[in-house]
Amino acid sequence: MKGLIFDIKRYSTNDGPGIRTTVFFKGCPLNCLWCHNPESRLHEIQHVNRRRNIGDMAFEEEEAIGQWYTVAEVMRELEKDTLFYDESGGGITFSGGEPLVQAGFVAQLAAECRKRGWHTSLDTCGYANRKALQLLEPYINLYLYDLKGMSPTDHWQHTGVDNGIIIDNLLYLVENRHDIILRYPVIPGMNDSENHLLDLLHFLMNISPVKREIHLLPYHNIQKNKYERLGLTYKLEDLSSPTTESLETMKKGLESIGYSVKIGG
Ligand code: SF4
Repeated sequence: MKGLIFDIKRYSTNDGPGIRTTVFFKGCPLNCLWCHNPESRLHEIQHVNRRRNIGDMAFEEEEAIGQWYTVAEVMRELEKDTLFYDESGGGITFSGGEPLVQAGFVAQLAAECRKRGWHTSLDTCGYANRKALQLLEPYINLYLYDLKGMSPTDHWQHTGVDNGIIIDNLLYLVENRHDIILRYPVIPGMNDSENHLLDLLHFLMNISPVKREIHLLPYHNIQKNKYERLGLTYKLEDLSSPTTESLETMKKGLESIGYSVKIGG
């Protein structure tokens, strides 16, 4: 079995505890307007032209985005930083795209990580078949779980899917007492109004996760160049980042119901 991966990033400190290696899987069932990794969406190898300058000469060369790996090949990469995982309490994060699109492969990889005693995190949008989630369940220590808003209609308009499956899977993980850190991308005009916040607070007040922690991820548009390279149109070009005031309002609201809130990933 092979997995399609578009990046393996070493020394990450934002995707779970300690120093980590993050494996980015290619393929995602969502189509978020603000997606910061548009190269991650298609479950296939893509080719783009890259410009290089050597002295006065400019060259265009073709670059492949994505590569098929065996479990053994990925493990060889991950083993390079064993010392860092052990010393820092870090480990491995499976991200994307959406890792659950390749659940069979990720489960094999996560099982190998657990055999070595490494901490494992799954960074997921939660839009997946329950069986895919359950395949990984024995091997995951921490879920970094995206919530992009509580309104099914808004969710559909902004991501291409409704949020029913995402909420059901989150409730399943909560009921089964897994460690979860929620991640809420704050997109001005799409999920940051007073009503959006009230809906979120109402939902969170009615669940009892093991830990009450949420990260607010402020929108930015630095991904614009990636869209151009892929020949895609970036539809939110004129959208500004959320104001400090709106982020603070959300933070205070979430803290008022007992959540520990971090602004940023
Ligand atoms: S879930 Fe993440 S990777 Fe998938 S389209 Fe949305 S932002 Fe991009």
